[in-house]
Amino acid sequence: MTAREAMEFDVVIVGAGPAGLSAAIRLKQLAAAADHDLGVCVIEKGSEVGAHILSGAVIDPIALNELIPDWKEKGAPLNTPVTDDRFLFLTESSAIKLPNMFMPRLMNNHGNYIVSLGNVCRWLAAQAEALGVELYPGFAASEVLYDEKGAVVGVATGDMGIGRDGEKTAGYEPGIELRAKYTLIAEGARGSLAKQLIARFALDADSDFPKFGIGLKELWEVEPAKHKLGLVTHTMGWPLDASTGGGSFMYHLENNQVAIGFVVHLNYQNPYLSPFDEFQRFKHHPAIRAVLEGGRRISYGARAITEGGLQSVPRLIFPGGALIGCAAGFVNVPRIKGSHNAMKTGMMAAEAAFAALKEGRAGDELEAYPKAWRESWVYKDLKKVRNVKPLWSKLGLFGGLTIGGLDMWMNDLGIGLPFTLGHGKPDYATLNAAARAKPIAYPKPDGKISFDKLSSVFISNTNHEENQPVHLHLTDPSIPIARNLPQWAEPAQRYCPAGVYEVVEGDAGAKRFQINAQNCVHCKTCDIKDPSQNITWCVPQGGGGPNYPNM
Ligand SMILES: Cc1cc2nc3c(=O)[nH]c(=O)nc-3n(C[C@H](O)[C@H](O)[C@H](O)COP(=O)(O)OP(=O)(O)OC[C@H]3O[C@@H](n4cnc5c(N)ncnc54)[C@H](O)[C@@H]3O)c2cc1C
Ligand code: SF4
Repeated sequence: MTAREAMEFDVVIVGAGPAGLSAAIRLKQLAAAADHDLGVCVIEKGSEVGAHILSGAVIDPIALNELIPDWKEKGAPLNTPVTDDRFLFLTESSAIKLPNMFMPRLMNNHGNYIVSLGNVCRWLAAQAEALGVELYPGFAASEVLYDEKGAVVGVATGDMGIGRDGEKTAGYEPGIELRAKYTLIAEGARGSLAKQLIARFALDADSDFPKFGIGLKELWEVEPAKHKLGLVTHTMGWPLDASTGGGSFMYHLENNQVAIGFVVHLNYQNPYLSPFDEFQRFKHHPAIRAVLEGGRRISYGARAITEGGLQSVPRLIFPGGALIGCAAGFVNVPRIKGSHNAMKTGMMAAEAAFAALKEGRAGDELEAYPKAWRESWVYKDLKKVRNVKPLWSKLGLFGGLTIGGLDMWMNDLGIGLPFTLGHGKPDYATLNAAARAKPIAYPKPDGKISFDKLSSVFISNTNHEENQPVHLHLTDPSIPIARNLPQWAEPAQRYCPAGVYEVVEGDAGAKRFQINAQNCVHCKTCDIKDPSQNITWCVPQGGGGPNYPNM
């Protein structure tokens, strides 16, 4: 083995999303205020900061106000305040507007901004660098480093230049060890290192299963007459049936752009369901098509979103580090907002790490961080809505939303349900057998409003070095054909929003599972939804994956 170079820091942060960047900024702010020298490094698997960020996004600026109070003067790209908030219930041909007065107060978007979260992260990265944070985009953390006592002492980036056959190529370069007194994991939903750490330290021993949705998003430029700057629309109902959770968002941001997206909760039951095709047909609804017709699709992508809420938040610390942001899962599901909580948890972990470093500590548990989270507005934000998702899962759209809505109203008045409901099953265990499920015939895309997967992946600018090991690992390569195909009609063919998984006929008609790893947009859905839990998403070579412009 070629020896790896090592670099030493006080804090290493994995992931340059809102959580990781806020943690880095807070650490450097505290160090500057205390005149204390501090080495902080952030690594990011995207080719640049923002390249892998996909969100709605309407953001609540509460955390940014705390982190950088003069963000307006510093040119933060929060240019579009929400001016109008609409909530529609869709049937196949009609859209019923729910009066805003019936919506729980916490759903109100007054004071929030429509943004590209990718651009917000690019701006946060510039603020971090100005404070002296070392930022390394194009480097994926592939391994956690431990000391002899088992404490985390940093991460290592993957080797570059390993061929598909696992052998070194002429371009081989060994990975680099980034060693630190504390390591903050900010990988977002279903982080690959977070998953290992949760298992190794049994961080989920006292929490409920993590829950997820898949969010698909397109960015459109629409005709100026159809654009209403600041308009936020959410829908529920068609095309999903009442037992399948999810809904859509449509946000009118600057430059005649509209961010349109569709979320399907990954506890869906019908193995024939395709979240991508649900999204495509949703856009043909008269109320939606009317906005998009005559416009131009600019970008496409997909990403898992955490939905477990309060009861699924695992233990946040382990010896030598902590989970921050959606790596732990802090999304407020009914509000579809997690970026403010990601930022605040990053800041709280940074404050705990800085206090520890100042005392000369290293490699121990940052107890002050979970304590601060339990006393924070993040905890209150999630506590109020903790029963909404379980009620929706148990009672379906109508029952769940009626009682969940009532619960949110009561919470607004300080008298919510006095207990916390559990999530029941993990998302991989919810599929019905194919034999009992109804196949879904999706309409063909028209190439104007709706599109196929491959032309969609094309505009996500996804690119992976082809000659590298497949980053989607099958624990048992026989399972897709021997088990998943007969039992669930191999759902990977449909839940993957990038057409990575195919069942193809090989020689003599034998079926074969094909993995087109180069198309992967890093949404992590396969790692979550595979009913046999046979797929492990691992980081590919750094810099690979989507190159989202402003998602
Ligand atoms: C479709 C959709 C719509 C949403 N809408 C909204 C909304 O309107 N408002 C809102 O507030 N929130 C919204 N959210 C949630 C919000 O996007 C998340 O809560 C937020 O992005 C979480 O921030 P994070 O920093 O924890 O993770 P992320 O934003 O996911 O960032 C993680 C970063 O870490 C990098 N990374 C991951 N693993 C590694 C590794 N091993 N090595 C190096 N780098 C790594 C990733 O490439 C990424 O850049 C939405 C989410 C989705 C999917
Ligand atoms: S292979 Fe997995 S992570 Fe990649 S796009 Fe498909 S479902 Fe998402």
